[in-house]
Amino acid sequence: MLETLEKIRATAIKEIAAATDTESLELLRVEYLGRKGQLTQLLRQLGTLSAEERPLAGKLSNEVKNAIQRELTTRIAALSAGDQRKVEFDYTLPGRRVGTTRRHPVNQTIDELVEIFTDIGFTVAEGPLIEDEYHNFDALNTPADHPARDEKDTLYLRDYPLLLRTETSTVQIRTMEHTKPPIRIIAPGRCYRNDTADARHYPVFHQIEGLWVDEGISFAHLKGVLLEFARGLLGKETNIRLRPHFFPFTEPSAEMEATCPACNGAGCRVCSNVGWLELGGAGMVDPQVLDDMNIDSEKYTGFAFGFGPERLTMVRHGITDIRNFYNNDLRFLRQFQ
Ligand SMILES: [Zn+2]
Repeated sequence: MLETLEKIRATAIKEIAAATDTESLELLRVEYLGRKGQLTQLLRQLGTLSAEERPLAGKLSNEVKNAIQRELTTRIAALSAGDQRKVEFDYTLPGRRVGTTRRHPVNQTIDELVEIFTDIGFTVAEGPLIEDEYHNFDALNTPADHPARDEKDTLYLRDYPLLLRTETSTVQIRTMEHTKPPIRIIAPGRCYRNDTADARHYPVFHQIEGLWVDEGISFAHLKGVLLEFARGLLGKETNIRLRPHFFPFTEPSAEMEATCPACNGAGCRVCSNVGWLELGGAGMVDPQVLDDMNIDSEKYTGFAFGFGPERLTMVRHGITDIRNFYNNDLRFLRQFQ
């Protein structure tokens, strides 16, 4: 019997050491220590042993039981600590395909814009998504009776005058508050408006705005930067034109259009046969805005511009519904490398 006990101990310990998961360890515990286990079965025969043999067998069976128990505990701890040394690894198995991720098409556009503008010397600035009326409207020359302030258009928070920023121009204000010229920043980021989602509107969207304030900055600099941007984004053949427009924050203001990349300005379905696509707005910073920021408008001038990365992405890829960007349909998203 002593021999059998030693044999059980040796086999049990070997099997436990080779176990690769906790389920098989539990099976081994039942196999050896369970009520119908090998050790228990053997101990039932203790009574048949001689008076000399019985105490020896009893003592050894206890030792074996403890040894197996100890080995089980150690192995469980090792397995849960990630010790998989005993796992046999089959190097001939084919590799598992790693799921490839892609950047969201809107983020791809933002990345490209950031690259284009940082090449011209702009740095990226950021600001809070929750703003107050001052930074979102007053400082941007948007008077109290301006329709944009209406709750129909702006998402106000319960703590008036806090709101979700409706444009990234707020970052320009915050930068001018604490930086003296020269200032040359772009501010990409999310904006919010109280819009019902349709093919052209979505309550959450992105903007990328730029600001350059320095001595002697003129409309010609603005046009040069916009042309550089349009060619960087849509191709070297692209041309731009600026049409008079109104924005509260700039004077004069212009709407920027670029030749349609799909037809090079000849007119096609993408550009509704006009050959031009509206890309964004721009203008010379209103001197009043500079003075409000304690920047001497006699000495400094500047320009600002803003684009919608969603709009630009739609133009580039011929996407007709902005909601596609936010439906998280992988069949749509996977098309953008
Ligand atoms: Zn076209």
